[in-house]
Amino acid sequence: MQGTRLGGSLRPCTSLLHASLSHRTSSLPLFHFGNRSLVSSSVFRGENRYGSSEGIISRKVSEHRVWPRGDAERALGLGLRRHLGVVAAKRSFLTELQSIKDEADAAGPLDFESPLEVVLYPDPRLRAKNKLINVFDEKLQQLVNEMFDIMYKTDGVGLAAPQVGVNVRLMVYNPVGERGKGEEYVLVNPRIVKFGKTRDVFDEGCLSFPVIEGGPDQAPTIEAAVERPKSVRIDAQDIKGKKFSISLKEWQARIFQHEYDHLEGTLYFDRMTPEVLDTIRPELERLEKLYEERTGLPSPERISERR
Ligand SMILES: [Zn+2]
Repeated sequence: MQGTRLGGSLRPCTSLLHASLSHRTSSLPLFHFGNRSLVSSSVFRGENRYGSSEGIISRKVSEHRVWPRGDAERALGLGLRRHLGVVAAKRSFLTELQSIKDEADAAGPLDFESPLEVVLYPDPRLRAKNKLINVFDEKLQQLVNEMFDIMYKTDGVGLAAPQVGVNVRLMVYNPVGERGKGEEYVLVNPRIVKFGKTRDVFDEGCLSFPVIEGGPDQAPTIEAAVERPKSVRIDAQDIKGKKFSISLKEWQARIFQHEYDHLEGTLYFDRMTPEVLDTIRPELERLEKLYEERTGLPSPERISERR
């Protein structure tokens, strides 16, 4: 994998787990929509054959986080009486709310100007919210084509739309990283349905983190170790909007998760252990300084403020 921008050497895991993945259980239930996985929980009143009751429904609205019903009840000291009619009504209400929210979060017709360029850290577009794609037209195809062009030109194996300054939920990758070799993947609005239990550590690089000012087509990228699950199951749409599911493991799971993080505004150094992060701090600070010189603006984030 030497020469690719996502990793190279496989290392044994020798450092503490630092990655904070979103499938960990949250302490509080909440409504949450869009692509993140959360749980809805609400108190309702209902009538059943035992008379009036007050209870809680706790429903999994997406893939991998559940607030166990029993815990919820005990926590609030409320007796649960299942009331299937109310649950069904609530589910339909939530589905409706979800679709309204998805529509509000949708990007609409894409608007960008060619040629696109790779956005470098600490550009705020790497941290901006990425909208769902809901228009599957020629412009989307054009964006995909340009992203592949840039990816190959810069020796990358994957690229996310925010990395070219277009804040939508789209990624492209080719595990081989060479045009005409390997397979090209286009994932629109991807969602992680399940993480594998085993994890490994790879040295990752990122096109938005070149080691010199010239940019990713002229320089290698800053590389350091990141720990991630070795496999993931994904729901996504293709370039025509058709839904599909896919399971990825090893190298492809690694690429996908790195690019998926970009869609969440997460950067690979966010997942590094403090010890690993220390090894690339000077290079991140240099990129922050270059950003300030280039734009005349203060860096929107500073690694020196992070332990
Ligand atoms: Zn990246």
